Amino acid sequence: MTKDSKSLQDAGEIVLQVLAKYLSESQEGEQPVLSLRSIREIADTLQLESWIRNGGLNAPQVANFLHTYLDNTIRMHHPGYIGHQVSIPHINSALAELIHGVSNNPMAIYEMGPAAAVMELVVVNWMLEKAGWGQTDSLHDATTASGAGVLTHGGSLANLTALLGARAAIAPEAWEQGNPQDLVILAPASAHYSVSRAAAIIGLGTQSIIPLPVDKREVVIPDEIPAIHKSVIENGQRVMALVANGCATSTGLYDPLAEIGAYCQSANIWLHVDSPHGAAALVSDKERHLMKGIELADSFTWDAHKMLRTSTLCTAVLFRERQAFQQVFRQKASYIFYEKEIFGIDFIEHTVECTKAGLGMKLFWVIAAEGEAGLATYVDAQFAKTRRFYEIVNQRSGFHSPIIPQSNILCFRYGTDDQMQVTIRDQLLRNGNFHISSTEIHGERFLRLSVMNPMTDEVTIGKLLDEIESIAVEIG
Ligand SMILES: *Cc1c(COP(=O)(O)O)cnc(C)c1O
Repeated sequence: MTKDSKSLQDAGEIVLQVLAKYLSESQEGEQPVLSLRSIREIADTLQLESWIRNGGLNAPQVANFLHTYLDNTIRMHHPGYIGHQVSIPHINSALAELIHGVSNNPMAIYEMGPAAAVMELVVVNWMLEKAGWGQTDSLHDATTASGAGVLTHGGSLANLTALLGARAAIAPEAWEQGNPQDLVILAPASAHYSVSRAAAIIGLGTQSIIPLPVDKREVVIPDEIPAIHKSVIENGQRVMALVANGCATSTGLYDPLAEIGAYCQSANIWLHVDSPHGAAALVSDKERHLMKGIELADSFTWDAHKMLRTSTLCTAVLFRERQAFQQVFRQKASYIFYEKEIFGIDFIEHTVECTKAGLGMKLFWVIAAEGEAGLATYVDAQFAKTRRFYEIVNQRSGFHSPIIPQSNILCFRYGTDDQMQVTIRDQLLRNGNFHISSTEIHGERFLRLSVMNPMTDEVTIGKLLDEIESIAVEIG
């Protein structure tokens, strides 16, 4: 046994013991979901600067240090964690992270991690299949028509990649010559900020985004798309892409993808469905109707680190047509480029990233533990619970949720005052029993729950509403 291998085992055992305790304390709700301390306090209690100067953080010191670190985390496994759309990671994803941390295979080049590369291929195929986009044996086999995709470090990079694909389709010359001046993107104002960021990064500018009309729930009104499109054409502009939500970050509501997709197909517009969270409906027989129309899209984004229970990050960007996918980063015909004999798959040709972690491994390990059926059960349970929470909220006087949830995001208010919602949330965070988020819908402030946690139940929500009532009494 080498010295390093012994250290791994010694420190690893300590780390696992401390983490296992952390996990059960969190799940039992025995510790605050969050204790927010100042930068100075955290740097001091962890002695961060001193460790950097002197080193020596080895096995004997690890337990203490890790305890203090974990005291300053947000406990995602706590039933009162109902804040943001980040997965409560499956244990197998944690194990995959550890395996990757030791083996460190940067698998974007096949020979730099063959097993991890094949796992990525297999999970991407699985996702394509869920969208009804067929499978691919090899990304470089252009003989059968089917979809293609790649894993990226996060949905924001995935959206950027998809929009680059849209640009390559309408303006293939742009890769070398820069953007033509007439390209616009249609998207609802509720689109995630990564969409306007991508527009800025690509060089179109955020002003290239033309807002799509939405109803009072901020859902796109498909009947109004043709008129917007007509005015774009009359302005001498071309639609590079239409971006629809599946589902929206703020409300968790799905744009009507089938109607939008039908129009986009008839008008030859690239449809990108921004569905990092909501694409998980595709794994459920009960909920996949929410994504109806996905088969008409040209690309979509799917975060496994939201509803497929991997730790951050693990995202797929998926394309209906492999040829379009191959042109994202390479305008010269990719077929020809790949006619030479290559062994395996080099994902590196298809990502913004150069070095890339074995992201597919995390998702593979989760699916391998749960099976597809296990993931479906999880998605069904979270969606169903959230609809029940909607009823519970509306049964209480003083509380109101105007939006029937479609997924596992619930928006509601206590009273009608915007500032009140912010004050309530701040106080909840200080109390440490719950972590919830907040959002604006048509300019009004709402409290917002992302019901990611299998441990969160009706009792949790009852206690949350009780605590909000007490806070409201205190602040008068
Ligand atoms: C989460 C989300 C994103 C951003 O994805 P990251 O993985 O956080 O970068 C973009 N769009 C929508 C609709 C999302 O829900």
